Amino acid sequence: MKETNAQHIISLFEQWAPKSLAVDGDPVGLQVGTLNKKVTKILVTLDVNLDTVEEAITNGCELIIAHHPPIFRGLKNMRTDLPQGILIEKLIKHDIAVYAAHTNLDIAKGGVNDLLASALHLENIEILEQTFSEQLMKLAVFTPKESTAAVRAALSTAGAGKIGDYDSCSFTTRGEGRFKPLEEATPYIGQANELSVVEEDKVEVVFPVSMKNKILKALLTTHPYEEPAYDLVLLEAEVNIKGLGRIGILPEKQILGDYAHLVKQQLNVPFVRVVGDLTKKVRKVAVLGGDGNKYIQIAKRAGADVFITGDLYFHVAQDAEAIGLSVIDPGHHVEQIMKTGVAEYMTKVCVENKLAVEFIPSKISTEPFQLI
Ligand SMILES: [Zn+2]
Repeated sequence: MKETNAQHIISLFEQWAPKSLAVDGDPVGLQVGTLNKKVTKILVTLDVNLDTVEEAITNGCELIIAHHPPIFRGLKNMRTDLPQGILIEKLIKHDIAVYAAHTNLDIAKGGVNDLLASALHLENIEILEQTFSEQLMKLAVFTPKESTAAVRAALSTAGAGKIGDYDSCSFTTRGEGRFKPLEEATPYIGQANELSVVEEDKVEVVFPVSMKNKILKALLTTHPYEEPAYDLVLLEAEVNIKGLGRIGILPEKQILGDYAHLVKQQLNVPFVRVVGDLTKKVRKVAVLGGDGNKYIQIAKRAGADVFITGDLYFHVAQDAEAIGLSVIDPGHHVEQIMKTGVAEYMTKVCVENKLAVEFIPSKISTEPFQLI
């Protein structure tokens, strides 16, 4: 096991939940302190408050990974006699950095919404609302036949040719290439001012458009020709589709009242609020952690029988009732599922990378409500 630093840990984390996935204006990333330091222990928490900071201090954590950014709106001052200033002062005094992963963690595969969907027994899980995708690009390159294997391998190593659960996908056809080097050329094959006819292969691969520069670099450093000939074509197909919320089906139909009990039990909450006929049968379930008030119509259009989300407003509940969508509100705090989810995922990644770092899921409840 090797010592590591916060920057390295966060770069591994961002391979899973890149900041680019976050919705516009969401202040994700490093919020307090620096990543330029050694880390041995990291606290994973839903919220950063005085209790969770105390927990980080007690456990000797150098870094906190939080779902809710403690600095959400622009700071107007840094007064250490007001709650937010007291919190930040305490973090800085104890040299504890805070990194926030908010909507990027909601959207990431295996993130908050996937964790909720699997806790709620959903199957055939899909994205509720797509927020990100990129186009596929195709490269067709012409290589002398003795270089084909090397070029193909370089393209695969750079990440081209990944289709679904397959990688190293390519198609090769053989043909004749013709070219005449001019006076200034330094040809790999042939002489100046003489037409060459060479047995060449056309190798075709696809990749997401964001990988274009990396793939071209791999091609140009491996291809033997002075001027490799290639085509780049933007395809209509989309890949890396990501988004907010999830929708899936239950193994079998059940009545809303029974399912509400299961939600309560699975998410470990003392109560849930339910909108809709408790005897109605439900099977298709949409879920969105946190505040999903804006997604009522989207859940309905996606065909959900019931939508599970937090912070439901009175009038939104009435709207849901009017369009025949049942809603179960287990509260916002159910997003705490990310504490063990992130700690387990990152522990696995760090064990694979032989990094000596411990992820500690916070044991503190940051639920502000109590039932009387
Ligand atoms: Zn939230």
